[in-house]
Amino acid sequence: MDNMKKYINMTGQFKTDWIKYSDYEVRLDENGEKYITPKEDSCFTIYNPFENANELVFDLIKLGDSALKNDIDTSTLDSMVLEFVKAYGLLGIITSSVYNRDIIGESKVILTDKNPLNIKEKIMDEDKYLNLFIPFANEDEVYIRKLGKHLTLFKAEDSPKFYGKRPLILDLVFSKFYSEKVDWIIDFAKTISTHINQVLIYKNINLTEGVTIMAGKFKAEKIGMTIGMLNNPFIQWEFDSLKTAVEIIYCFAITNESNILKRCEYCKNAFIAKSDNEKYCSSSCRNCYNVIKSRNKKKGIDS
Ligand SMILES: [Zn+2]
Repeated sequence: MDNMKKYINMTGQFKTDWIKYSDYEVRLDENGEKYITPKEDSCFTIYNPFENANELVFDLIKLGDSALKNDIDTSTLDSMVLEFVKAYGLLGIITSSVYNRDIIGESKVILTDKNPLNIKEKIMDEDKYLNLFIPFANEDEVYIRKLGKHLTLFKAEDSPKFYGKRPLILDLVFSKFYSEKVDWIIDFAKTISTHINQVLIYKNINLTEGVTIMAGKFKAEKIGMTIGMLNNPFIQWEFDSLKTAVEIIYCFAITNESNILKRCEYCKNAFIAKSDNEKYCSSSCRNCYNVIKSRNKKKGIDS
């Protein structure tokens, strides 16, 4: 079978930590907004998203493809989002949607131009912004504490704390109180799916001038990195959100010249091809396509 499976090729060493809980649920806040939130009795694990780079990106694209279909019903889509979040955790949209490096301790946040939140304000009060992401937490369960000059985030549970090694906001993102709207996740997935489609369209046009694909929608902000050293030097990305990690992986996948991210001509799923000539994601798709082609030939239909 497909023992030639190709992978997104990322040169160098990549690492980042992310959190996922064992179970999540879809829950409505007091305004009827649909959120995804960790279940109360769930427990967390920390993992490195780059170890699952392939699955992560392709699962997101599948979600985006489904969301782009007109005939998909909301409950099917909700359960797909839930599956995605169970596998990889929430996206960390709270950090990727503002220019502020940290959010805790600042009175205002400045929202990025391209974010999935769908709110009109460009500048928001910190409290108001934070509350968007903790709709089910009581005031005494999570709050900011000032000790002299130092700020800490108090949370009534024992999820990871970074003690200043990473922005304080991650203490909140890694807590069980942190939630994201289903629509935000869907919006992001749709953006990536649409982005591939656009790239593929442009590939078939002879461009005389460079263009930016989806300039009004796709742009990753706040990407930090340093070099770490073990036996060899490695890139130590400093991602504050899973969303940014996905964007990086996707950018590597779509720009790679030896393993090309494209869509299968039969099933339309995204896959990694070794060359521009490769048209199908699997031998079974190639067979299916050929069967249809020969059937149509017999019927006298041009395929
Ligand atoms: Zn296929």
